[in-house]
Amino acid sequence: HARRERSGFRFYSQSMLQGAATRLRRMRDLQRALREEELELYYQPLVSIEGVVVGAEALLRWRHPREGLILPSEFVPIAEDTGLIFPLGRWVISRAAEAWGRWRREGLSSLLISVNLSPQQIKDVQLVDHLRETLSRHGIPPGYLTLEITERTFLEHMGSREFFSRLEEMGIGIALDDFGTGYSTFQYIKQYPVKAIKIDKSFVQGLPARGEDVAIIQAILTLADGLGLAVIAEGVENEQQALLLRTFNCQIFQGFFYKEPLREEEFIQYVKALHRP
Ligand code: C2E
Ligand code: CA
Ligand code: CA
Ligand code: CA
Repeated sequence: HARRERSGFRFYSQSMLQGAATRLRRMRDLQRALREEELELYYQPLVSIEGVVVGAEALLRWRHPREGLILPSEFVPIAEDTGLIFPLGRWVISRAAEAWGRWRREGLSSLLISVNLSPQQIKDVQLVDHLRETLSRHGIPPGYLTLEITERTFLEHMGSREFFSRLEEMGIGIALDDFGTGYSTFQYIKQYPVKAIKIDKSFVQGLPARGEDVAIIQAILTLADGLGLAVIAEGVENEQQALLLRTFNCQIFQGFFYKEPLREEEFIQYVKALHRP
């Protein structure tokens, strides 16, 4: 502690330099990963109240040659800070669309596909054209694609109306992710073409015991109903949570209780097995 006080400046500047070097190394590593196809999309089923798989959320994984499977929280922030999120984000959209094309050929044509968008991607001038071209190349009706964004996106890009108008014109849906964890939620829902909200797992995990979480979730469902928004409850981990959410008439569920994110092949098998008469 004393050392830190005496040479505070050097202490901090040195660790900052180290941080910069590490980040540069990670960024190069990630650039290579993108080039060498070490990245992979996993698909987590979205399950309806009737028990049918209605779609999937695409979740990014990095199959690192030495470190094994790395979760997005470890590398998406690096991509966001370095601008690599632009090509990476377009890669995710392309891969998810290709997967959708394969699902259709497998006879699973009416599945929704949900893709996460980082706030920075709003500034990617190629994104809208990329979306349009990708959908048309794979013959995907735009209504089957949802982009999941967080309130951070609105907060950091106040002038992003244009971007959202263009998505709306194209018919691509917007889902508000991690709903309930941000700030002026209701304002955004009024101002932007939001079609669905995803109740953050921190609320779902409080079910069924925590009274506050029960009240918050009921309020969200009532609000969404009044506004004509679809609701997805995420992070559903056990049967009690699922049962209570069904009682509240929540319509779509996602979580380990149903299925963890799967490799594409496993996802296809899962959907086929579930829907086999
Ligand atoms: P998210 O969009 O909120 O995604 C849901 C996260 O919850 C995923 O973590 C998923 O594996 C996890 N999850 C699913 N079911 C359960 C459950 O029952 N319990 C718990 N505790 N967790 C559950 P994951 O895959 O590690 O992704 C973390 C975050 O990384 C995502 O949060 C999203 O913000 C970001 N992310 C993932 N893929 C992409 C991507 O392609 N692009 C961008 N920009 N961000 C991505
Ligand atoms: Ca998400
Ligand atoms: Ca979420
Ligand atoms: Ca999140």
